[in-house]
Amino acid sequence: MKLHEISQAPFIREMCEATSQLWVYGWAERNGGNISYRLPQEEVRYYLNTDQIKKTVALDFTVKSLAGELFLVSGSGKYFKNIYKNPADSLAIIRINAKGDKYELLWGLEGGDLPTSELASHLQCHAVRLAQDPAHRVILHTHATAISAMTFIHDLDELKFTKTLWQMITECLVVFPDGVSVVPWMVAGTRQLGTASAEKMQHARIVVWPHHGIMGAGQTMDDAFGLVETAEKAAKIYLEISSTRQEIKQRISDQQLLDLAKKFHVKPKAGVLLEEGEQND
Ligand SMILES: [Zn+2]
Repeated sequence: MKLHEISQAPFIREMCEATSQLWVYGWAERNGGNISYRLPQEEVRYYLNTDQIKKTVALDFTVKSLAGELFLVSGSGKYFKNIYKNPADSLAIIRINAKGDKYELLWGLEGGDLPTSELASHLQCHAVRLAQDPAHRVILHTHATAISAMTFIHDLDELKFTKTLWQMITECLVVFPDGVSVVPWMVAGTRQLGTASAEKMQHARIVVWPHHGIMGAGQTMDDAFGLVETAEKAAKIYLEISSTRQEIKQRISDQQLLDLAKKFHVKPKAGVLLEEGEQND
């Protein structure tokens, strides 16, 4: 089969657009941020001979459930600002081996660099999200400014954090009814952060990394991107309200949020909203 030019593949173009846009938003300074995109074999075979392995690299963990899965991932140390200029140098297509303890480099990273230093977090999160949702495909991590700022002044209790975000924009509850999860501050790039994030992703598609950024999961690039964008917008409104130092005179009530959930057929994360007649402790 004649292979098509991979730089024209929709998944490469989407990755270039997303990384550029994250930089434009100011959420991907220097080499901040990383994305991984699960690719269907049949789509990749159109552009790449997947039997040719450039190199095999051991993982320091095992993700058996991802055996044989292909991922397009951003490279370690790569500036999102520049990825579109040379995707073959900045991105990689990797395949998880049959045992789930190695990855095979099939394309990209032509300068000999490595995939994102957050690969552990990404793969563990993919494994968890795929178990929840077979259509899951994207994990996106970025240094979303307002979300990071909010982690300095807001309680990190995830029920409280979720509620505040839901109250900021009417659509938030509809976009992320599963709420947001928050992990404690941890060293970036570690397996521990990956494991903690993956555990949180069993119940939510957004994980906040305090004083660092956000991780979002989605079925498409737009889905993951839109999720992060919505949470970030809500956090920005929260910060703007806080900066006025004015008393809040009105807000969306719990009952109104419940009405919203009913109208849009979503189930709000349990424990966040008070049902009618319930009292705060
Ligand atoms: Zn980061």
